[in-house]
Amino acid sequence: MSLSRIRGQDGAIAHLRSAFEARRLAHAYVFNGPDGVGKETAALELAAALNCEAGGLEGCGACASCRMAAKLAHPDIHLVFPMPRDAKPAEAAEILAEQARAGYRDAGFGRKAAIISVEAVLDAVVAKANQRPYTGPWKVFVVADADAMTPEAANALLKSLEEPPDATVLVLTTSRLNALPATVLSRCQRIQFRRLPRDTVEDILLSDKRLGFNKARARAAAAVSLGSAGRAVRAEGEGLASELGRVADLMTGKRAAGVGPLLNEASQIAFRLGRQEQERLLDLMLLWLRDVLLLRELGDGAPAGEILFERQRRQLEAQARAMDARAIGDLAVRIDDARRAIERYSNPSIVFTSVLVDVAVARRRAEAGGGRAHAA
Ligand SMILES: [Zn+2]
Repeated sequence: MSLSRIRGQDGAIAHLRSAFEARRLAHAYVFNGPDGVGKETAALELAAALNCEAGGLEGCGACASCRMAAKLAHPDIHLVFPMPRDAKPAEAAEILAEQARAGYRDAGFGRKAAIISVEAVLDAVVAKANQRPYTGPWKVFVVADADAMTPEAANALLKSLEEPPDATVLVLTTSRLNALPATVLSRCQRIQFRRLPRDTVEDILLSDKRLGFNKARARAAAAVSLGSAGRAVRAEGEGLASELGRVADLMTGKRAAGVGPLLNEASQIAFRLGRQEQERLLDLMLLWLRDVLLLRELGDGAPAGEILFERQRRQLEAQARAMDARAIGDLAVRIDDARRAIERYSNPSIVFTSVLVDVAVARRRAEAGGGRAHAA
């Protein structure tokens, strides 16, 4: 494990690296950026690398210090994160153990209606800030989703920020910079984290075996992730299957068969879904066509784990028999155009009516003549 493991955040990592090499690490940082793009992981990797017995800023992953850090059990790396108001002290330790085991450290943090209490800050940061490191050389404090601090907690933290002990780094992470008190912000150097490209999210999901993704599921989760690996992991758990079912129904005409239902479906999508959800619906429609094309070209030879809509395999196969490659390609172009139109804030009602008509027409043609008739 090392800082180079952080994907898609080259600017942030380069900044930390050069500050370290110039021996100018700030005492306090705010890692700002969307949820699930690697802020907490980067903070923990930085903490591990600073303490690695091999020196440098890579983190060897093998020394005693790196191994303790990987288990989130390093005595000089302290992690504070939001907990429900009525949580018992032991619960934090359980969450940490689970995070270390499951490999995705962001997923359990920042839960709704959770706070970082003044007790947590006093206990994990203030009381420890002036103690010498156990194994050294650095003591690192990570406050994940720091905007969840209560005002009292932020005040307590300020004391540590005003008189920072040597060889101490404090990293606050947040996706809501403006929710942090200005008094705290003004004492921290800000580092910006960005949304991840979809390919990067897919790679992250596949590269950590503990997450248990195959190619097709990683692709789907990445498609709905909005550039957040954390969101992709959550999407896998929450209703991705039902979303896939909805897309399959749209593409096979089980939903929106006939003019009335089609107009109704288009207006439901236009008025009930947000723009990002509309984009991801169109992304999934494209992935459906990709599956159809794969089955058409490779049949049973399609590699295991490549077919996203595995549960709807029979419907995919029926379309693969009925549509030729050109018809599939034409429809994909229409759906892609629709996606661009939504991106440009075109009227979603018109866009979805038109794209659902395109889908219906392509399907009717296929049913009427099969692939051969279209090719002729
Ligand atoms: Zn090491």
